[in-house]
Amino acid sequence: MTFITPTRQLAINIETLVSDHPVDHVDPVTKKVTHPKEIALLEQLRMEIQSGRRPGGGSGSGSRSPVALGAVTLYNEIRESLNTAYISLTGKDDHAVSPEDKLRLWQKAAVSRGDDAITKCTKITAKWIEAINELISPETKLELVGACPACGNTHHTEEVDGEPTRNRALYATLAKAECRSCGAVWTSKEDKLMLARHLEGTT
Ligand SMILES: [Zn+2]
Repeated sequence: MTFITPTRQLAINIETLVSDHPVDHVDPVTKKVTHPKEIALLEQLRMEIQSGRRPGGGSGSGSRSPVALGAVTLYNEIRESLNTAYISLTGKDDHAVSPEDKLRLWQKAAVSRGDDAITKCTKITAKWIEAINELISPETKLELVGACPACGNTHHTEEVDGEPTRNRALYATLAKAECRSCGAVWTSKEDKLMLARHLEGTT
């Protein structure tokens, strides 16, 4: 386990949002780990909005994919928050300053203010990252019924926006199955099959 300082975590979040950055990719078949570069998430969000504006099949400007509409809403929300942060830091708004630069300024101010400001900025940017990722790569998530073979839990409770939320412990995506409770992950075909057999026995 490597410990990441709050300042470092914030820097990672900002990097993910504003710059092209390497990501870990494990090939589901060969298990080979590579580090392809991913485009900055704010840029990807704008690309998603642009793709929704392209005419094609629909009836002109009136038709947008639900994903593109979601992208517009999310992008506006992020821009609005950044404008608010920028105004409270500088006392004025400036439309010539990009959301990226406003975000960097906010990061700098948070780091100079200390822990509470850093935590707040980290939490908000983490939320944006999650929301953008969910929007641009809608991965089918299957909730699995049964007990995790690693920890035995069937459910997992965690705080979401301050509210305790109860989910099933196990879920599966195209790439993997994972336990929310203990973090066990099943990625290979054999492992997933084993998990499936285990679940058939317990449900
Ligand atoms: Zn578990």
